[in-house]
Amino acid sequence: MTQQLATWTQFTKRSALQDMLELTSGPEYISFGLGLPNAEYFPAEHLARSANEVLLQQSKLLQYAPPTELLKQQIQLLMSQRGVQCSTSQIFLTAGAQQGINLLARLLLDPGKTVLSEEVTYTGFLQVLEPFQSRMLTVPTDPVKGIDVEQVEKVLQTEERPACMYVVPNGHNPLSYTLNREKRQRLAQLAAEYEVPIIEDDPYGFLTYEDTEIPAIKSFQSDWVFYVGSFSKILAPGLRLGWIIANEEVIEKLSIVKEATDINTSTLTQQIAANFLQKDEFANHLLRLRQEYRSRRNCMLEHLSAQLGELGSWTAPASGMFIWVRFPEYINTMELFRESISTEKVTFFPGNVFAVNQKQIASSSIRLNFSFNNHDKIEEGITRLSRLVKRHI
Ligand code: PMP
Repeated sequence: MTQQLATWTQFTKRSALQDMLELTSGPEYISFGLGLPNAEYFPAEHLARSANEVLLQQSKLLQYAPPTELLKQQIQLLMSQRGVQCSTSQIFLTAGAQQGINLLARLLLDPGKTVLSEEVTYTGFLQVLEPFQSRMLTVPTDPVKGIDVEQVEKVLQTEERPACMYVVPNGHNPLSYTLNREKRQRLAQLAAEYEVPIIEDDPYGFLTYEDTEIPAIKSFQSDWVFYVGSFSKILAPGLRLGWIIANEEVIEKLSIVKEATDINTSTLTQQIAANFLQKDEFANHLLRLRQEYRSRRNCMLEHLSAQLGELGSWTAPASGMFIWVRFPEYINTMELFRESISTEKVTFFPGNVFAVNQKQIASSSIRLNFSFNNHDKIEEGITRLSRLVKRHI
């Protein structure tokens, strides 16, 4: 039967690593692998209260319905914190950022077209592209400074015009950098100059740990940037709620693609989220979330310094949920991972999982998640990791 499936499915396969991470979810393992938020901080009680309120008020929210205006108004307020002034008619509700990038890809891509991305990027975006059999144009990127904007310009000057470029400007997944203001501005200019839309994927934009917040790329260029937001990291991923900011003509097309996909985003979760977002408790919740994740980030950084010292290098991420750790080039982190499964029982993602075009780059780096575990588990996990690494140095 699988022979009869669409051609692109012949080339796609479930990652063996993903299977392995699922098999290693038992209590003897410490997982720094998956990018999970901490369930302790899901605002379950607030959401339960909101669910009760909205359900008792209006039974019609269990009906098919157009997007909730109240939620769009709350998103409009959130976006102004990111430097983006938009009207509610430019906000399109989605079932999470993953659906946001998927709908945009379907809108922007013809089969076989080229897409511009960093040479190390979010695997969920690569999965979105599979049915289109897109050709990837890649540019170098750096765990500290991020995407090489000069190379972006060079590619735009010399190659076939890409259908879009994909950027994760805050708490990059997996590299953990936060792009500086100048690079954001320059990317926005290049998008307009070469008429190549940017997909600005920003699920971590509200999870910042430093005082200075940098405006979204969208704030520098309104026409050529599609902003993709998410409530997964600031409320809960189980809500499956996110948004896209685009101009009105694009919104109209998006609504056609969305209708064909899942008709509309759950009216119930839209109303529950909108009800909670308009309360004062939401601001407190976000503040607490940032404090707690900052403290977990600091805990992981401390133990990395104490246990690994000069054996690896990393930078404190200004936002997001990950720390990218580089080891000497002769260390193969895929081997490290395999060994860890049976010995130290600490899991992480080897770097080259995120390499585009199956390049063997980032193969001596790993991505560590710091949001999921408590301080004791972080300490124990980093102790195990450093024992593992020391056996290879
Ligand atoms: N983009 C990036 C960069 C992510 O890290 C994630 C979550 N891992 C997503 C998109 C998907 O998020 P959501 O739950 O909002 O679909």
